[in-house]
Order: sequence, then structure tokens, then C-alpha cells
Amino acid sequence: MKKLTTAGLILIMAGVISLILFFDTMAPVSIGMIVTGALMEAAVAMKTKKDRPVPCRLGFHRYDHTGYDEENRSMRIYQCRRCHKIKKAVLGGG
Ligand SMILES: [Zn+2]
Repeated sequence: MKKLTTAGLILIMAGVISLILFFDTMAPVSIGMIVTGALMEAAVAMKTKKDRPVPCRLGFHRYDHTGYDEENRSMRIYQCRRCHKIKKAVLGGG
């Protein structure tokens, strides 16, 4: 499974690089490579994180601001509405 992830990333990278370097001639091929790589990544994500909702498996969490860290008040705590994953972030001036 890990090999497929790597292959997907390589495809995406190769697609992006060839798109930049040879845009005029390679654009359709490059975009095809990027899309294929992205689909491989998505397929792996779908298979590996079965306990999470689909958007969360793809990394699209929906965070709500739930409070502040007890030790560091400038640290905000966010929690994903769907999978309850917790993220902490510092906001300047907050
Ligand atoms: Zn989530």
C-alpha cells in the first residue's frame, strides 16, 4: 500500500514538473499524470482510513473553534465536526 502512495506522489510531481517545463507540448499528458496520481492517492486514503468520514480521509476536515489551550491562552483549539480530530493553532494577536 505504501508503494502505491509513493507512485502516486511521483506521478503528481512528474506531471507538475513536465507541465512547467513543457507546457505547450506536454500539457494534456501532464494533467493526465497529475489526475492519475491524485486518484491513486485518494484510493489509498479511502482504503487505509476506514474509520473516518470520506472528506476527512482525503484531508478535508471541517474544524470548529472549540476553546483555548489551558496552559497557553493564545493557543486555539479546533475540533473536526465529522471525525473529532483535534488541532491546535496559535493565532497572532489573538
Ligand atoms: Zn475530520
